[in-house]
This record gives sequence, structure tokens and C-alpha cells, in this order.
Amino acid sequence: MHTDLGIDTDRLQCNLESRNDDDATADAEQAGKHAGSRTGNQHRHDKARQVHSADCIICCMSEPCIITVAITGSVARKSHNPAVPESVAEQVESTHEAFEAGAALVHYHSRQDDGSPGTVPEKFAEFQERIRKLCPGIIVQFSTGGRSGVGSERGSMLHHRPDMASLSTGSCNFPRSVYENSNELIRELAGKMLEFGIKPEIEVFDLAMLYNAASLVQEGLLTSPLHVQFVLGVKNALPAHRDILEFELEKLAELLPGSTWVAAGIGKSQLEVNSWCLELGGHMRTGLEDNIRLDADALAPSNAALVKRAADLCPEYGRHPASAAEARKILGLMQ
Ligand code: ZN
Repeated sequence: MHTDLGIDTDRLQCNLESRNDDDATADAEQAGKHAGSRTGNQHRHDKARQVHSADCIICCMSEPCIITVAITGSVARKSHNPAVPESVAEQVESTHEAFEAGAALVHYHSRQDDGSPGTVPEKFAEFQERIRKLCPGIIVQFSTGGRSGVGSERGSMLHHRPDMASLSTGSCNFPRSVYENSNELIRELAGKMLEFGIKPEIEVFDLAMLYNAASLVQEGLLTSPLHVQFVLGVKNALPAHRDILEFELEKLAELLPGSTWVAAGIGKSQLEVNSWCLELGGHMRTGLEDNIRLDADALAPSNAALVKRAADLCPEYGRHPASAAEARKILGLMQ
């Protein structure tokens, strides 16, 4: 469980409250943080405090950060990285390891028996049943993403009532295809999520999608507060630039105040986007769906390894990996 992460939040809070420049650097080095100069690390701390102090009375306390693990996706195959889990048994095992490493939410795509992408409702149901037994409290999020099916098929498993499901609120270009989400389909999927009591995660690949989400709230098809994911680094959509995320966050606060948010960095941007999320008060997503490498030289050996490197970043930013119970509270889900 999460208690074996070795994070003493009381001690961490104390350290943050009494830290000086040397403390900050020593903590960063001791925690084995990503590469960064002393100045760079300290700058991140100062910036984090500025961002939090504007509206957060516990700006210097350790705040929980929900780590989402996107275990499989629709693109990566075992030929790219043998650790990509494709069968339900592999997906359950990989998620369990990731849960032990600090993930509280699993984003799930099914695969066909031959490993190719496809929405197989029975596999969604089997995965959900098995993982709920193995990982008490874990938040299960089904993908309704476009690479796994066409049209209404993308919502054909929602009657299994996961805690959450992804919902893209607009269309954009992908590297080799158009990611098509018509207004009709968006409304159909949102309506099903309402019917089955599923909390959507709004997937924002482009700014218009945020405005569309706000319109859907006004129409009553989405319920506030929303949970929004900003996706950065998909070729032909938005690049992983920090100023883009900051602008999106400004608009989120303006359009949908009270929302929770997460950002996903695709490919080599994954770790850097993880750190932006921690610093700017959001939640993190990692996993082999978005990135199959640890660095330029090495493939990621597992989803758990990617979760661990994200979890290891937390103390530097006064955060800790949210337990499943904390994550449910933050997202307004049943315990
Ligand atoms: Zn996905």
C-alpha cells in the first residue's frame, strides 16, 4: 500500500516550514531528484509558493497529488516495449504494481486477444472486477478514446459503471489521424456518464475543448466541479510548453472555477510535465500509454517504475502521492 513509500508527511511539512536555501538543496539531493542546478531547484520552490499562496491557506503543507497510471493505451505494443500489458491478467498485475508504487487512479483501455486496440466491454468488466478486489479503493477510469473504436462503440462499456471515464470535448489532429469527436458523440457519451453516475475526466487536447466543456456544464450535461486533463506533447496538437499549460490553467480558473486538474506529457515530456503539475498544484499522470521510456537510453521496465519516478518527485514540491481514499475525497467520489 502507499504506506511503504517511506514518506513522512509530518516531517516533510516541518522541513518545508523551516527550510532555507541549503535545506532545500539538501532535500532535493537526498530525495534523488531529477537533474537541476541548485538555483533551478530553489527557483521551483519559490515559484510553487507564489502560485499556491494566492488562494491556498495550506501552501506550505504537504498536499496530496493523485497519480494516474495509464497502463496500456492504444498505440504502444509489446514490440515497442515488452512491458506494455495487453491481456487482462497482465493489466491487473501491472496496475497492482503501480498501485503499490503510489498510483491511486488507473486509466484503462482494453485490447483484443491479438493485442491490437479495441473496445471489448467484457474485458473492461473483468479488469474492473479483478482490480477492485486486488487494490482496495483504487479509482477505475475507462477510456472512451477514439483509437479504440468508432462512434457509439466508444461508450459501449459504460454500463459497467466505472468510477470515471475519459471524455474528449472536441476534435484535433493526431500524428497520423484525425481525432474526431463530433458534438453529437460528445453529448451521447456525456449523457451516458450522467445516466450511469460516472464522473468524466475532460480530455483537453486543444483550448476550444475547455470552452466546449464549460458550455456542456451550462447545458447540464456535465456537473461541476469538473476534473480536467490537459494533454501536451501530441504531435499536431498542443506541444508540451509550460506557458501553454499556465495559460490553460488561467482559462480553467476563469471558466470552471473549483475544477481539479491533471496534465499528461506525452513521450519525452512526461517527467517534465509531472514536475509542472506538482509545482502548479495539479495532479499527475504517467504510464506506458503516454511514454515507453525512462530516458533516451532505456525503456521503462514497468508502469510501476514510471509511477515511482513521479512519486519520488513529490517531496521537493511539498506534495505526497494521494492514497486512494484521499484521491476519492479530492475528486468527490464515493469512498
Ligand atoms: Zn487513454
